[in-house]
Amino acid sequence: MCGIIAYLGEREAYPILVKGLERLEYRGYDSAGIAILKDNFIQLNKVVGKVNNLKSTTINGDIGISHTRWATHGIPNEANAHPHHNGDRSLFLVHNGIIENYVNLKKELIKRGYQFYSDTDTEVLTKLIDYHHKNSANQNTLKAIKNALHEVVGAYGLVLINKNEEKIYAARKGSPLVLGIGQREFFVASDPAAFLEHTRRALYLEDDDILEIDRKNFQVHNLHQDCDKLKRNVDHIKWNLSNIEKNGYEHFMLKEIHEQPDTLRNCLAGRIDMENHDSKFTDKLQPEFVKNLNKIIIASCGTSWHASLVIKHLIEKYSRIKVDVEYASEFRYKNPIINKNDLFVAISQSGETADTLAALKTAKENGLRCFGIVNVVGSSISREVDSGNYIRAGSEIGVASTKAFTGQVLCGILLMVHLGKIKGTITNQTAEKILNNLKNIPDLVKQTFEEEEKIKEIAKFVATKNNCFYLGRGLNIATALEGSLKLKEISYIHSEAFPAGELKHGPIALIEEGMPIIVIANKNEGIVYDKLLSNVQEVKSRKGKIIVIANDNDREIQDNVGEDSYVIRVPEVPDYLQAIINSVPLQLLSYYVAKERGCEIDQPRNLAKSVTVE
Ligand code: GLU
Repeated sequence: MCGIIAYLGEREAYPILVKGLERLEYRGYDSAGIAILKDNFIQLNKVVGKVNNLKSTTINGDIGISHTRWATHGIPNEANAHPHHNGDRSLFLVHNGIIENYVNLKKELIKRGYQFYSDTDTEVLTKLIDYHHKNSANQNTLKAIKNALHEVVGAYGLVLINKNEEKIYAARKGSPLVLGIGQREFFVASDPAAFLEHTRRALYLEDDDILEIDRKNFQVHNLHQDCDKLKRNVDHIKWNLSNIEKNGYEHFMLKEIHEQPDTLRNCLAGRIDMENHDSKFTDKLQPEFVKNLNKIIIASCGTSWHASLVIKHLIEKYSRIKVDVEYASEFRYKNPIINKNDLFVAISQSGETADTLAALKTAKENGLRCFGIVNVVGSSISREVDSGNYIRAGSEIGVASTKAFTGQVLCGILLMVHLGKIKGTITNQTAEKILNNLKNIPDLVKQTFEEEEKIKEIAKFVATKNNCFYLGRGLNIATALEGSLKLKEISYIHSEAFPAGELKHGPIALIEEGMPIIVIANKNEGIVYDKLLSNVQEVKSRKGKIIVIANDNDREIQDNVGEDSYVIRVPEVPDYLQAIINSVPLQLLSYYVAKERGCEIDQPRNLAKSVTVE
């Protein structure tokens, strides 16, 4: 969460920082600010709202730090916006994360005579560094940062400048930071997207790293060691700027929905091993380990949690291995039952989700083997796990996740095949069939776009409503949950999802005339399909308005749901592909409903991409 970009070089910093913040704005957008150092003076500009508001002015100088905020402590106003500064305005700091013990630290600082102008934990951190700076021998900034961070409990990615030094300091614990190395210039950002147009050479900081950059060079220190100069690899970022631009689409979300045939194709590339009737992993799970596997624990949040439910269903059904899906935010606090023969799977788009990362650390402490399904290459989770699969979806900028969801499910299917093959629960014949079907998935997704015009029309109706239900059975319960989440995230319509059979046990009381009830009804669900149609009748009897996702070869569906119901067609696919195929029209529906309602689709209120706070 939140975006950080800092610059030190020979060019004017302000426009570079504004542009960088715009690229990061999806990570937080309730306020923004820039501090520029020139001639031993630091000038500040902070605004409430979007980064765009920073453009009405400029500040000269070639060293600066900047921030776009996703508020955790204190409302989004100018005082709480970053950068924060000390009393004599010599130190300025931007911060991503939460200082958990800020109340106690603040009390101590007040006793020492400090005053506060904001409600943020970040100002407390700034003043704590100031305290150590004023009280350290030679007023050594690096030492002051270290001393302050020793007192801090919580997570941070921070960048600091001191008016008396032509330097940038950065530190990381739990929140991502990456150094961009250009020609006689340096960048520090929470995401390389912020500096990609200037350099592709990137060095990812690790927890407890402290970075010190001057005009010529940089050094990585360690928080806990004194005579330290750490070596870190410099990576070459391969993805393109077009990944983080809209390419003619009105919104990133729409672009990302339409990218899915390509992202799914990328996800599959090189991962289908027809010869051995298996899926290929960059780093295979050891067969001995899989044979003795007790159960799988998947931990994730939000959309990734829904993908986890799909994956659970498929692995249990086809690979015959028990899977528990955990809310990552709960996992480490619940004294989980863990067996050393369990496999832990962390699923996250950003690979930085704080709750998932914390759950992963708990699993590691308990000696579990850990597997990751993440999108962002080089992210914290990808570095912490023993092995894993990248989703290969490219940058996902729209806050509402789309292509990452379908990519996660696809990685789950590849995992399902591999586990089932080793376990002997998936035969060569079945594996071959699944793998052949997987190859068709990009084209099948493309076919779902044929319904886009119809979905736009349906969206006009849904947009006028305040409440919605999504219903599914079996595997489609997870898809219903995901469709419902998508709608509420970006259109602010209250929406809930249920197993269709649960409706009569309570939620049916809420159905009113004209309430949209979105039903996922795949014909090849067999008996469940018939049961679902009965649930549809229950809704219709209470005058709910049915919108059904049905297969293109389902001739009776319109008769079954009635002429007054909407039918959205999707190609018929085997059950393991249904979550991918069914979720695409649901993504489009949410998008067009939000558009119809004039919502900020890529930056919905109160949300931000990449949830790096607990
Ligand atoms: N906790 C800090 C604040 O509320 C930083 C939030 C962020 O990561 O944007 O200002």
